[in-house]
Order: sequence, then structure tokens, then C-alpha cells
Amino acid sequence: MQVRILGAHANQSRETRPISILIDDVLCIDAGSISTALTFDEQHRVRAILLTHQHFDHIQGVPLFAITTAASGVTGVYSIEPVLDALRSHLVNGVIYPTFTERLSFGGPSLEFHTLDPFTETDVLGYRVLAVPVRHGVPAVGYQVTSPAGASLFYTGDTLGGLADAWPHVAPDLLVIEVTFPNSWRGSAKHLAPADLEQELLAYRQIKGSLPDVLVIHMVPWLEDEIRREVDEVARRLGIEIGVAFEDMVIDL
Ligand SMILES: [Zn+2]
Ligand SMILES: [Zn+2]
Repeated sequence: MQVRILGAHANQSRETRPISILIDDVLCIDAGSISTALTFDEQHRVRAILLTHQHFDHIQGVPLFAITTAASGVTGVYSIEPVLDALRSHLVNGVIYPTFTERLSFGGPSLEFHTLDPFTETDVLGYRVLAVPVRHGVPAVGYQVTSPAGASLFYTGDTLGGLADAWPHVAPDLLVIEVTFPNSWRGSAKHLAPADLEQELLAYRQIKGSLPDVLVIHMVPWLEDEIRREVDEVARRLGIEIGVAFEDMVIDL
């Protein structure tokens, strides 16, 4: 399973993009940079999108992707019902953009929506997809994706913590976990800081006995130096390596 980080940050600029994680060129988790990080040919190869929650930095790529791929068939958009509701009500709603569920002058339909039930494994393009609820102030899930060969990742999506509730349900080779702020901002918004990361990883190790590979994602770009220093301290204390995601990073699992 090839994991390609299209966007690794909480905000965008010429150097940074919001979250999208592309698996084997075909399955994309979150749509923050699904159009801005991929060539048109690469966008045509994507056949399914999993959305963790409705915040704009995670869904913004959907409409332009849908226009690009209108001529190349339908892409499945998967999430829990409240996320799909928000997307269809506020973004691809026939006002801001077309709904993309019917034929348009330039092709289509290009999107098809699929509701996922939490804790129920679903087959998406041959991958086993498990949506696990996480706390974030709006309905949100993390995803465990397992390839046909058995490689797996779990991406938390955005969360304010309490992942001890999620850990019993997942067992990934790679844990992709959000860390948005440095410790000085801890508790100021519904996200994790490195000190929270440490608590979440300790809980994981306590519940599961050991830790998988860990990759931190969703940093505020202009706070990243401070975040990286504090993540390094967490890694030292836990006696593990913790990676920090960057745009166009590729990991083979
Ligand atoms: Zn976000
Ligand atoms: Zn969010």
C-alpha cells in the first residue's frame, strides 16, 4: 500500500496544503488538496474519497475535483451521514456548485454519496474501511484503511482527544494523528498539541501493548518549528520515532 501525503497542514500557501492522504493513487482520505496537489491525469485515477468531517479545509477540493472528473465516471464520496448532509447542503448544493449527482453540460454525474456506519467495516475499491468516531466539536470520524494485502493505516482526522475510546477498535501499521498547535496553545481549540499526543500514545501503548509507526499531521504552518521541537521531545520520552508529515511525502506499507 502506497500512502502519499498530498496535504499535511491546517492552512494553505504556496508551500503548504490542507489534508489529503492518497492511497495507491485511487482512494483519497479528505479532500483538502485533492485537486491542487494532483495532475488532471492523477485526479482521473481517484475513484473514492473518504471524508473525516465537514470542516472546509477537509472538503474544499471536492467541487473542482468533481468538475475535472465529470467526463471520467462517478467517484464515490464516503462518510457518516452528518458530513455528507453538510457537504450537500452547503457546498455541492446547486448554489455554490452543482450537486454533481446528475448529468451536466460537461459530463457527469461525477459524484455518488455513500453513508458509512461507524464501527462497521465497508468494502471500498477492495480496501476494508472502518469509520471510528472521534471528538472534534462536529460529527467526525477517523478511518482505518486496510489494503487487500493486509497493510493498514489509521488516520484520526481532526480531534480534540479522548482517543482511548478509539484505540480498541483499530490496529494499524501506521498511525497518522493530528497535532495542530504547540503546547503553548494547548486547549485553546478542538485540536491536539504535542503534550496531548503524548497522552494519546501512552493510552494506545497501555491498551495495545506497543505502538505502530506514528506520523503527525495537520500542523499550523507558522507554528511548525515549535511543534516539531515538542514532538521530538515526546518521541524521546516514549523511546520511539515520530514522523512529521510533509507535502508529497510517500510511505510504502
Ligand atoms: Zn482541519
Ligand atoms: Zn476540523
